Amino acid sequence: MVNTAIVEELRGIVGADYVLTDPADLASYAYDGTFQERRPALVVSPATTAEVVAVVKVAARERLPITARGMGSGLAGASIAGEGGLVLSLTRMNRILEIDQENMMATAQAGVITGDLQNAVAAVGLMYPPDPSSLKHSTLGGNAACGAGGPMCLKYGVTQDYVQALEVVLADGEVLRCGGKNIKDVTGYNLVDLFIGSEGTLGIITELTVKLIPKPAATRTAKAVFPRMDDASAAVNRILLSGVLPSKLEIMDGTTIECVEDYLHCGLPTDAEAILIIETDGDAVNAQREIETAAQVCKDSGASEVQVARDAKEADELWLARRSVSGSLGRARPNKLGEDISVPRSAIPEMVRRIKEIAFRHELRIVVFGHAGDGNLHPNILFDRRDPDELRRVEEAVADIFAAAVELGGTLSGEHGVGTLKLPYLEMAVGPVAMRVMRGIKGALDPLNILNPGKVLPRELHCERA
Ligand SMILES: Cc1cc2nc3c(=O)[nH]c(=O)nc-3n(C[C@H](O)[C@H](O)[C@H](O)COP(=O)(O)OP(=O)(O)OC[C@H]3O[C@@H](n4cnc5c(N)ncnc54)[C@H](O)[C@@H]3O)c2cc1C
Repeated sequence: MVNTAIVEELRGIVGADYVLTDPADLASYAYDGTFQERRPALVVSPATTAEVVAVVKVAARERLPITARGMGSGLAGASIAGEGGLVLSLTRMNRILEIDQENMMATAQAGVITGDLQNAVAAVGLMYPPDPSSLKHSTLGGNAACGAGGPMCLKYGVTQDYVQALEVVLADGEVLRCGGKNIKDVTGYNLVDLFIGSEGTLGIITELTVKLIPKPAATRTAKAVFPRMDDASAAVNRILLSGVLPSKLEIMDGTTIECVEDYLHCGLPTDAEAILIIETDGDAVNAQREIETAAQVCKDSGASEVQVARDAKEADELWLARRSVSGSLGRARPNKLGEDISVPRSAIPEMVRRIKEIAFRHELRIVVFGHAGDGNLHPNILFDRRDPDELRRVEEAVADIFAAAVELGGTLSGEHGVGTLKLPYLEMAVGPVAMRVMRGIKGALDPLNILNPGKVLPRELHCERA
């Protein structure tokens, strides 16, 4: 419970309608995209940077923990507030402030939905490439705070590669503006990158300037079915070595194919070990030439069936299976835990083999899909959290998956972040020296430990100095 005088003070800052304390209202902010839930003590929705500053100053004075929140679609438990915490919802800060065509940059408030920015810049022939599958229900601020990626990152890079400048409200209410519209800038430490992937633990992002690129004129799509996972992985490497850099190169394993087919009944081959979905882009001639090359490589690598879409409608049908993965898993079991490991591309077949073995050993159903081109796999464990024994086996399987990824030279998260779910494994992945440096950064920027405490780093370690 936050005392009434503080609630009234916050209402005075953002307006009475934008401070929520009713348990029914708070329930909507108790979740993220995982299976976790915890109600915050209150939700405050500022409309301007000045209001964020004033709220943060009250929170600092009262030692109230603040969890910044975009759309709450995160997959690491990072936007769920801790006990007695305040959720700072950024969704009212949803204005696109500028589309600068000359410099090919856009500036927007942190609560702008990613897909809305993409549509706005597409209308003037430009493209904002970072494309998390959640782009219609996640924010630019959340994407930056998580270091979000997506299928197009193979060719175009992740959110980090596009954020040029940030406005950030620091833990004491100071406003930091870092970066700018200069493509090259090594004037001091790279403060912009420091906030990418910081999951609301170092500052509240209120405004972003992002880079844009010219929108490719055409895209082409193909699907390739592989009886053997090893052949699909080999095909991925061969496509890239052939000189084709697809804009998307996605993989679904056999268990994912089964779940999607159970859902869509669209004739997917449930005896296949893998499907690759490939997209090329550029001018029409180039995109067509590249998709034909990729299709031929798949045939030569052991694909039993390869289909190149003849038009946009067929392309959309080919993508339907990949787009439906999330929904199909949602109906397969009551809960799913979506992991986000990243391994060197060459380790994909071994990683998938180990995940299958882990699934068998812990008697769990685990599907694997993801961005094959950049080695970022999403093993999703399907389970029922009401069964304590199954929940225990899920936890053991997660630890085994992370250990296997690290052993193969990989890491715990390619794009979802650490949050609370991966926190116990962070030191195993990065080592004690990196942990000490991270704790030092946290201690320097948030000495009172009010910004999303207990996320990324353990709560009790936050204020140590490097
Ligand atoms: C169906 C589905 C598909 C998904 N697909 C992808 C995908 O393809 N790629 C991918 O990378 N992710 C994906 N995600 C995960 C999620 O959408 C991303 O992590 C996204 O970036 C979160 O944005 P959000 O606005 O929902 O942030 P939230 O979930 O609200 O917050 C996430 C984290 O960012 C912090 N935060 C939010 N806004 C700010 C801010 N303004 N300042 C400081 N910190 C802030 C929060 O405190 C929290 O730590 C998916 C999720 C779902 C449910």
